[in-house]
Amino acid sequence: MKIRYFDHAATTPVSDAVLQEMLPYFQIEYGNASSMYSLGRSSKKAVEIARRKVANSIGALPKEIYFTSCGSESDNLAIKGIAYANKEKGNHIITSKIEHPAVLNTCKTLEKQGFQVTYLNVNENGFVDLEELVNSIKPQTILISIMFANNEIGTIQNIKEIGMIAHKNNVIFHTDGVQAIGNIKIDVNEYNIDALSTSAHKFYGPKGIGALYVRDGIKFEKIQDGGHQEKDKRAGTENVAEIVGLGKAIEEIYQEYEKYNEKLTNLRDYYIEQIEKSNFNAKLNGDRKNRLPGNANFSFPGINAQELLLLLDEKGICASAGSACSTGNPEPSHVLTSIGLPKELANGALRVSFGKDNTKEDVDFLVQSLQEIIPNIQKNVTN
Ligand code: PLP
Repeated sequence: MKIRYFDHAATTPVSDAVLQEMLPYFQIEYGNASSMYSLGRSSKKAVEIARRKVANSIGALPKEIYFTSCGSESDNLAIKGIAYANKEKGNHIITSKIEHPAVLNTCKTLEKQGFQVTYLNVNENGFVDLEELVNSIKPQTILISIMFANNEIGTIQNIKEIGMIAHKNNVIFHTDGVQAIGNIKIDVNEYNIDALSTSAHKFYGPKGIGALYVRDGIKFEKIQDGGHQEKDKRAGTENVAEIVGLGKAIEEIYQEYEKYNEKLTNLRDYYIEQIEKSNFNAKLNGDRKNRLPGNANFSFPGINAQELLLLLDEKGICASAGSACSTGNPEPSHVLTSIGLPKELANGALRVSFGKDNTKEDVDFLVQSLQEIIPNIQKNVTN
């Protein structure tokens, strides 16, 4: 059976060029990047080339880039690292209710350690209310962390404005850019960003490698004890092959950026049009205009998205639901409830995220499959 993959927001396959660039670093160039002999120096050089590629892609300096093990670690290091290093200035952090758990749970941990966190509301399209943001800033506020683009509904925040508000108030601005990097052209200076998290597996790089940008001069502390790697901010032997993979992946995705962006936008808009033309009475979640190029999230009334996913899987289709099902009793996603969806619409949400290998024919197959499946399960639910 042919697999049709529409879950690029969950992860992407490693590109051929990325894999080829990584391979020598497993068995030939396997030196420890901290070793002084030439095998080690050659690994160190590869790490520094990758660092430059990441920096160049986002308008940063190489010394402002730190390699981590994933997007979650980048979020942890940014938020905890900045909070701990600036606690003499204040203990208040502002974030939003629709952040990824890597940010939300980091903030919850900080609350247990005496920090205060404000969780901003979002409107029905998923935008943070800028007035509420301004009104939430206090003299003790040290950090604002608002995601660049949402992983479920694809809404892209007004990041430039949020960064400007932060800077006007002398507050550090971190953004979780895990879904945005590769999909949006980001210059950290243009967007007023002080810290930015990213993860290679969202843009055709390997899983288990991330990077964190922190503007030169911003105080932040390491959160893991050990050796002095990554300018003493992130202990652990450098994962050379994966760092090389991340560097190649970010370079590759931005080399073809316009073409990639246009392709994904066209597939997304075609899918949205097909769904809205059908008799599903589906509701598009997230903002229609300011959304990730490959993201389409629809709530189908009267269906259980977990059941839909299983039936799509039988046709070789990979997509994602808006709720995390553990014991057959799905809890609606915090993102969908925050934008005001009632439980039944949140439980009927299907997230589709397109990638560079998808075609219009794939979309037709997906829409046709939905037309075959949905009337049956809708009937099951209503009967
Ligand atoms: N932040 C966002 C917005 C994400 O979508 C994800 C992963 O889905 C993460 C953080 C975590 O990234 P990683 O899987 O690399 O830990």
